[in-house]
Amino acid sequence: MGLKVLLIEDQRDLAESVWDFLERRGHVVDHALDGAQGLRMAREGDFDVIVLDLGLPRMDGLDVCARLRAEGRDVPVLMLTARDTLDDRLTGFGRGADDYLVKPFAMLELEARVRNLHRRHRGSEVLQCADLVLDARSGEATRAGRLLLLSALQSRLLETLLRASPAVVDSARLAERVWGEEAPGIDALHSLVRALRAVIDRPFDQPLIRTVHGIGYRLGADSAAD
Ligand code: CA
Repeated sequence: MGLKVLLIEDQRDLAESVWDFLERRGHVVDHALDGAQGLRMAREGDFDVIVLDLGLPRMDGLDVCARLRAEGRDVPVLMLTARDTLDDRLTGFGRGADDYLVKPFAMLELEARVRNLHRRHRGSEVLQCADLVLDARSGEATRAGRLLLLSALQSRLLETLLRASPAVVDSARLAERVWGEEAPGIDALHSLVRALRAVIDRPFDQPLIRTVHGIGYRLGADSAAD
């Protein structure tokens, strides 16, 4: 599921790219352009992770981080830095940053670090079927150790099937868990299942999503009930 992220970054174009990317990946992002505004927002909002630039106007990233820790706030902080020196890293960690990323970075790498910090902070809730693993708190899914890129809807569908596995979940209930009250028709569910299969089953030898005709779907490594 998506995380609530506070992004404190004064470089507008970079901030926009990070914001766009994270929101497209299902996260909710608030943005501050300087350290003082960032600190204020961090105090007021309930964020899962803070992505904090080191060099900021009005109050630099290290001071923002130090203030938050001094106030007893333990929200995970990912520090962004253009200065890849050991000194900066040590100073950053000394002031309470949990991880750092050197610019320029890949957006997927940023997201993986953010999810990882969140998981470490909250503890994980791991759901598993054969070699397929979903961390229900961070939303990260892997199969045979390979990271699976799932949309928010696919992730909800997978979580529902994993929680019920090996039992079958009927189609109406599945649709309701994925879309809520305003669930679209059964065709939408079928095409979402097809899309999920393309990610979690097709690249692997053993299919896990089973169609139970006239009822719904289930997740299992065995094919006995098909
Ligand atoms: Ca900066």
